[in-house]
Amino acid sequence: MSGLHFLLVPLVAQGHIIPAVDLARLLAVRGARVTVVTTPVNAARNRAAVEGARRAGLDVELAEIAFPGPGLELPEGLENMDMLVERQHYMAFFRAVWRMDAPLEEYLRSLPRRPDCLVADSCNPWTAGVCARHGIPRLVLHCPSAYFLLATHNLSKHGVYDRVAGELEAFEVPGFPVRAVGSKATFRGFFQWPGAEGFQRDVDEAEATADGLILNTFRDIEGTFVDAYAAVLGRRTWAVGPTCASGLLDADAKAGRGNRADADAGGIVPWLDARPPSSVLYVSFGSLARLPAKQLVELGRGLEASGRPFVWAIKEAKSDAGVQAWLAEGFEERVEDRGLLVRGWAPQLTILSHPAVGGFLTHCGWNATLEAIAHGVPALTWPNFSDQFSSEQLLVDVLGVGVRSGVKVPAYLPEEAEGVQVTRAGVEKAVAELMDGGPEGAARRARAKEIAAKAKAAVQEGGSSYDDLIDMIRHVAELSRTKSHERDPSARPLPSAPELG
Ligand code: UDP
Repeated sequence: MSGLHFLLVPLVAQGHIIPAVDLARLLAVRGARVTVVTTPVNAARNRAAVEGARRAGLDVELAEIAFPGPGLELPEGLENMDMLVERQHYMAFFRAVWRMDAPLEEYLRSLPRRPDCLVADSCNPWTAGVCARHGIPRLVLHCPSAYFLLATHNLSKHGVYDRVAGELEAFEVPGFPVRAVGSKATFRGFFQWPGAEGFQRDVDEAEATADGLILNTFRDIEGTFVDAYAAVLGRRTWAVGPTCASGLLDADAKAGRGNRADADAGGIVPWLDARPPSSVLYVSFGSLARLPAKQLVELGRGLEASGRPFVWAIKEAKSDAGVQAWLAEGFEERVEDRGLLVRGWAPQLTILSHPAVGGFLTHCGWNATLEAIAHGVPALTWPNFSDQFSSEQLLVDVLGVGVRSGVKVPAYLPEEAEGVQVTRAGVEKAVAELMDGGPEGAARRARAKEIAAKAKAAVQEGGSSYDDLIDMIRHVAELSRTKSHERDPSARPLPSAPELG
């Protein structure tokens, strides 16, 4: 039992809350008490997952703090990035995120005892001041890959972003362990957009002053990038992932991860059970990326032409009239013998962990990437923005477990907004290469299985991520003791860090 109390404060976005809840379980298994602090809408989405962890005897709970959105003219209830559809809401959304410091402080004041550590999402730098005022050790949790973090760090440090002429001018990432070529458009940091420079400065400063960094990755795939990043930042760094491979999620926890699914896992699983092993392609673009309607239709035609079984999570079916109209023209009926559509939120881990799934057409969000890796499912890569092009490079060029769809630039570029980057024929060809692919395909599948075995081993006793997590908890126990002395020299020392593990 570690007896420590951790507060986890994820960014209010699915790709950040989901790994934070996973991390909460991992910490609680090591005997910590863990509180995930988030806003009411996000707490409601994750309550079932947290209650499942509690039923399993883990000391995990949710604490709700208000989201200051309505004060900034955001609609009531808009509390997660996946609800951001109107462009004019983006800046107000992050301004509201930055104002979550007051409700967090109010919550801290209500606690009988100071928590031992606050694990703040890297995109929540406003926690730095709160922790400093209350003498709470603060770790930063990064949600993208070490590959992306190191690349964007080096590009800034060497002034490459300032030197290149436009969005698409090609450059090579300097001082990088492998050859990586890209452009501003494909190596863009989270807050590297006009008007958001202040957010980025805060993020950098909060990282530089943190008591340590937690990465959701593992050494077998990213060891060189993790070490290089820790060295350039000069911070203690722990690679504790992939958090999705913890083996701590039962069927319900998998199906309800992040939100209640819009399709019953009880219907999807028998559908998958009826298909041969590794025959099904799962298609999803995560919680944020939205394909232009024309591109989405072209993808649908390509899937239809591929003749392969597929499960396709189409969140646009809930919000995009063009997509709804296209679906109403009979696509589903035409592929009824082999295509299953999920209109909205899919139980992604339930699907990816099913043996019938043999390929994942993914937008390459870091969680989706890790989920593909942890389940040994080769990827058909279709990046959209931010770190997704880096994940594509890691999957295809470094690990050899992916096939490119052919997407070259983010769909948000004005010239691409209505465009089609991958034609029906392109989709058909890429799907055939991934799902069949002769000896190359077989080798890719074998590599994916090998890496998945390493991912599982990493988070189990004796694995590198397991050891890093234990080391991180020890470090927190030490930090917490030191800070309590700093605050009150006469305070009785906390009990020394008991045996962990
Ligand atoms: N996810 C899910 N169902 C969906 C879409 C996404 O469960 O229909 C989960 C997915 O498993 C992953 C997270 O949402 O854990 C999305 O994070 P990721 O980094 O892949 O992409 P983002 O949504 O942040 O772009």
